Amino acid sequence: MSEELKSFRDTFKRWIEKEIIPFHEEWEKAGMVPRELYKKAGEQGFLCPLVKEEYGGLGLDYHFSAVITEELSFAMVSGVAFWLHSDIIVPYIEHYGNETQKQKYLPGCVSGDYVTAVAMTEPGTGSDLQGISTKAVLEGDHWVLNGAKTFISNGHVANLYVVVAETPAKDPNQKFKSLSLFLVEENDVGFERGRKLQKIGLKAQDTAELAFVNCRIPKDRLLGEEGKGFIYLSNELAQERLGVAIMSQAMAEKCVEITADYVKGRKAFKKRIADFQNTRFKLAECATEVKVGRAFVDRLIEIHAKEKCSTVEASMAKTWCSEMFCRVADECLQLHGGYGYMWEYTIARAYADARVQRIYAGTNEIMKEIIARDLLDK
Ligand SMILES: Cc1cc2nc3c(=O)[nH]c(=O)nc-3n(C[C@H](O)[C@H](O)[C@H](O)COP(=O)(O)OP(=O)(O)OC[C@H]3O[C@@H](n4cnc5c(N)ncnc54)[C@H](O)[C@@H]3O)c2cc1C
Repeated sequence: MSEELKSFRDTFKRWIEKEIIPFHEEWEKAGMVPRELYKKAGEQGFLCPLVKEEYGGLGLDYHFSAVITEELSFAMVSGVAFWLHSDIIVPYIEHYGNETQKQKYLPGCVSGDYVTAVAMTEPGTGSDLQGISTKAVLEGDHWVLNGAKTFISNGHVANLYVVVAETPAKDPNQKFKSLSLFLVEENDVGFERGRKLQKIGLKAQDTAELAFVNCRIPKDRLLGEEGKGFIYLSNELAQERLGVAIMSQAMAEKCVEITADYVKGRKAFKKRIADFQNTRFKLAECATEVKVGRAFVDRLIEIHAKEKCSTVEASMAKTWCSEMFCRVADECLQLHGGYGYMWEYTIARAYADARVQRIYAGTNEIMKEIIARDLLDK
């Protein structure tokens, strides 16, 4: 690790200890983090490290993004979705926006004045993106959007949304060519935030429903070309999936660390829990699993920082690391006994946060389809 990266990590870690950890429990109760957190992070240069300097960013490589995601995961502060903003959504604007859009939005994304969300999933469809029914129709100088989205992370805290909608198809047999991306701002007429959904984990993250009722947005809020939305989304998926792998990996490592501490401190039958052979073997297995994951994840971070890791490899890492995290969190919770089931214990939160890693950013079943297609259908 370079000196620059190491010092960035140390500074960010100290910032988490000061600005996030003391408040995270309060944010869990509120069901969201405050928008000001993004402003504070932006002031310190912790948002969008990849954005080019001409748009207010630092133009750093992916190692810096990975460090941010890792440190938030080691700290188990799952409400803070900087990775979603910086590494998933803002790249759509930087890669597919026109110059005017980039000048207008990117500096605010870096400073935290804009907090972003991406709205793909709908009540009727998630995995099958081509099944979406939110429509966008051009009327004079405006696009008019109608439809509903659900499960949208940052749904309430965000003020800028990348929305996937269906535009009139040139060829009805090629529906993927009728998906387009739009930039919707929180005050746009006809845009409404709905319920904040109650989840079993990620308690401080707001996951919400959104509605578009004759939502009128200026014509120039189309992001990229009409009909290319599906291609744009596919191009960016590797980074999203690598992000989930990094989070899962770091949280699994933390589970092993806190459990090793816990079993050394607690006794049963006049012995430390750490002295039972079952404990030793289970933790040895977990420690080995996280070592294997670390080798894979670090290799992909290296590749991704230089070129771009492939969608297939990112899908493999997302699947393997999220499943490993679930296994490790489950075993480590068991070693905590009843305390492991109590919300005040970090392992309980880790267990609850682990489950969704297999579902969002494309379910693991869809990941396996992608991997199998590459293996078998070429
Ligand atoms: C906490 C949370 C945050 C989220 N954040 C966002 C967000 O910010 N933006 C956003 O747009 N979406 C978001 N999502 C939605 C998420 O991406 C979807 O839930 C996910 O893609 C699955 O879609 P679905 O829920 O409709 O399940 P479905 O697509 O209905 O799938 C149900 C089951 O069928 C399986 N299945 C489906 N198709 C196949 C197939 N071809 N082969 C084998 N099995 C299949 C799935 O793997 C799954 O097990 C979030 C979800 C959660 C839970």
